[in-house]
Amino acid sequence: MSRSTSRRLFLAACAAATVLSLPASAEQLVNVYTTREPALAAPLFEAFTKATGITVNSVFVKDGLAERVKAEGAASPADVLMTVDVGNLLDVVDAGVTQPVDSAVLSAAIPANLRDPAGNWFALSLRARLIYAAKDQPKLTSFQYEELADPKWKGKICIRSGQHPYNIGLTAAYLVHYGDAKTEAWLRGLKANLARKATGGDREGARDVLGGICDIAVGNSYYVGLMRSGQGGPDQKKWGDGIEVLLPTFVGGGTHVNVSGAAVAKNSPNKANAVKLLEFAVSPEMQAVYAKQNMEYPVLASATVDPIIAALGPLKVDPISLVDIAKARKKASELMDKVGFDN
Ligand code: FE
Repeated sequence: MSRSTSRRLFLAACAAATVLSLPASAEQLVNVYTTREPALAAPLFEAFTKATGITVNSVFVKDGLAERVKAEGAASPADVLMTVDVGNLLDVVDAGVTQPVDSAVLSAAIPANLRDPAGNWFALSLRARLIYAAKDQPKLTSFQYEELADPKWKGKICIRSGQHPYNIGLTAAYLVHYGDAKTEAWLRGLKANLARKATGGDREGARDVLGGICDIAVGNSYYVGLMRSGQGGPDQKKWGDGIEVLLPTFVGGGTHVNVSGAAVAKNSPNKANAVKLLEFAVSPEMQAVYAKQNMEYPVLASATVDPIIAALGPLKVDPISLVDIAKARKKASELMDKVGFDN
């Protein structure tokens, strides 16, 4: 056999092997790119494989999810893109690397304000922006975001950087409710009420409330769960147990939430499996499992909430659209700079 003949035979054998192996893997696989810690979705993926026989390949993409999928182009193996914060979900949509999904299951499970009207992304869990309050003060029974600017809180509020996505999200929601001028006035009022520089994380807000530096702090719901469950260690357990937690609302509205969510990739080679995975993720059982991993709220209203989070009280989600909130983020960031929030 000549060298070129043997090479031809070798290549033919390779091609045959490729062809033979393709149908099985194409039907039994779903590739997930996620910016979330791999452990958060692991129980969901394991249950999915058990229920369907479809293997989940998850790839942890810490930064630059949209850029990576875009660079991979038509050859991208990504089927599902998972990330947190509506801003990041819109970034992948804006990068043109998602495709619309029309699913009656997803539409029924996810409220309309928590998914893309065009079907390009879907929320899978919620995190609410809450008030952590000191216990050694007259007990607060309710709280409204508007009150954060009330001079009665002068020198008494702790909050992280105004440019952090969590505060940009809350301020963007304020913009949707009230417009530019009232939001700027609110930010100036809140800034004037700060007990310390806007810095640190949400958990440090709980720490500083307990330490007497501030009477109230603004922080996300899941941190209460992470602190109180002891997942953050003994110090954080003390911070979590040492605060009262209130679910604030907008006047005439509800509690501001952000989301973790998912999209189906534009060039998904296993689209049917991708949709199947998302639909599986919004089943009542999986909603409870997925939300609990990071002490979040399920997006499916009827799903079981972790007892530590349920004990905070009923969540009434603000009805405004997350798409509108996401669109107002740029303005929110500009207003933060304008009022010198972090100075
Ligand atoms: Fe966080």
